[in-house]
Amino acid sequence: MRPAPNAPVRAPRGTELHTKGWPQEAAYRLLMNNLEVAEDWRRLIVYGGRGKAARDWESYYRIVETLEELDSDETLVVQSGKPVAVWRTHEWAPRVLISNAMLVPYWSTLEHFNELEAKGLTMYGQMTAGSWCNIGSQGIVQGTYETFATAAKMKFGGTLKGRITVTGGLGMFSGIMPHCIRLNGGVSIAVEIDPERIQRRVELGFVDEMLTDPDEAYRLARHCAERGEARAIAVLGNMSDVLGDFLEKGTHFDIVTDQTSAHDMLEGYVPGGMSLAEALDLRKSAPDEYIGLARASAVRQVRAMVEYQRRGALVFDYGNNIRQEAYNAGYKDAFAFPGFVEAFIRPLFCVGRGPFRWICLSGEESDLRKTEQVALSEFADDEVFANWVRLASEHQPIEGLPARLGYLGFGQRARFGKLLNDMVRSGELAGPVAMSRDHLDTGSVASPNRETERMKDGSDAVADWPILNAMLNVACGATYVAVHNGGGVGVGYATHAGLVMVADGTDLAERKIERCLTVDPGSGVVRHADAGYETAIELARSAGIRMPMLGT
Ligand code: NAD
Repeated sequence: MRPAPNAPVRAPRGTELHTKGWPQEAAYRLLMNNLEVAEDWRRLIVYGGRGKAARDWESYYRIVETLEELDSDETLVVQSGKPVAVWRTHEWAPRVLISNAMLVPYWSTLEHFNELEAKGLTMYGQMTAGSWCNIGSQGIVQGTYETFATAAKMKFGGTLKGRITVTGGLGMFSGIMPHCIRLNGGVSIAVEIDPERIQRRVELGFVDEMLTDPDEAYRLARHCAERGEARAIAVLGNMSDVLGDFLEKGTHFDIVTDQTSAHDMLEGYVPGGMSLAEALDLRKSAPDEYIGLARASAVRQVRAMVEYQRRGALVFDYGNNIRQEAYNAGYKDAFAFPGFVEAFIRPLFCVGRGPFRWICLSGEESDLRKTEQVALSEFADDEVFANWVRLASEHQPIEGLPARLGYLGFGQRARFGKLLNDMVRSGELAGPVAMSRDHLDTGSVASPNRETERMKDGSDAVADWPILNAMLNVACGATYVAVHNGGGVGVGYATHAGLVMVADGTDLAERKIERCLTVDPGSGVVRHADAGYETAIELARSAGIRMPMLGT
């Protein structure tokens, strides 16, 4: 077993290939880019508790070495972070196929997963970690920005100016929330147990300062809110304890949410009433006791959130499954507040809209700027997208290979993919562009506590859709495709699929892009039309999507 490298992993830049073709090179660079932007690269952990890019370092090196040798008619098969085989396929087939943390449904529990992981037989891939398309915190930034913008429209007259939000966690994705609240004009207090995580977010500019006294933090928050100043304040502490104390003192908040890694009660969430060091010791020495204490803390925290809702705050679950954990531990009112997808995002999913992203493999910032310009002129009439790209271009630091994320829908993605391929073909860009999306997308996920919570027809837990989505993307020539268990909400609670496409300027890429970037968001339109959402049915009709049962 080879150990971790001495220096952090960095994705190659430039146009010199380390592999036998750009599709292979995309997998190669994006795997490394995942580790370049990772929360804890030494442990191969990219984000979200223990979401990993590869099973162990030996697996990582073997993946890299195999990609270097992989021919353009071969496919590498990766089983939960370990490269297990290479097969001769054909040039339209994906270069890599990945399956992460999939378990037979009856055994699909965190406890069983932990046993298998301890034996070295599986790996938790989260969503974008094990499918090699993470782009750092910017991967969630527009979704978070739009979520708070929608909250502002729904409840606060269109702005968060003068409003205070309290949230938990400052990790990879949780850490972007204060920044998004600030972009919406609001003040936030983010409670994080690990000072190093806070420091990292301060360095990235996503939070303004760290305080250790919650009351002092609240006084500062109130002071800023009264003056209409936007501010992102971090408090060192445990969310369960701090929120409980705030509630007891009658501290007022306008919005209450949480994004600690509560989907994983062993490796993600830290129980209250102890220091981080004590928690890390207990995690190792007595994992069952740790899980019991973590669940009890989740109950206290969710109880406080429900009480805040009763007192008039806007409260929502931001995708970490904390309601389910509290419910399982006996708190039966845990689902009294909604999840964010049902509250804010579903209308977008109905029209095939979701978090599309593109990554400039050359590493050149100028490539990103040129692609942003083209995106802005092509989608000038899409106000939300255009505003976002302008805002992100100005305020979002580049992490890893230059990348941009923007919510695009059915039709738009295929158009944009072709334009990017044209730009590579004409030499306007220094190198090829990879395109991807979160698994948290319109047609690629079944997650009853999140993306498919309270579907109109009750089909929340039907997991055929993401599997069909993955198979369709394979059939249409995706560069690589992944299916996963448990992303976002934890093992057993979600099935989802990811894809990556490469625009390398060839005619073959153009044909693959046109098909994949049509069926991928299209499968979201179909999924929502099938569930009875009118806007999805209308779009299926107007776009000529053939759905035999609807007669379209
Ligand atoms: P992360 O593991 O990088 O960060 C979580 C942070 O929470 C860590 O810094 C950890 O120290 C802190 N933490 C844990 N328990 C705490 C407690 N009790 N009090 C205070 N701090 C505590 O994870 P992430 O990438 O930031 O994701 C956070 C959660 O959000 C995960 O559950 C993930 O699955 C979910 N997620 C949601 C979305 C979405 O779109 N809503 C997207 C990605 C991830």
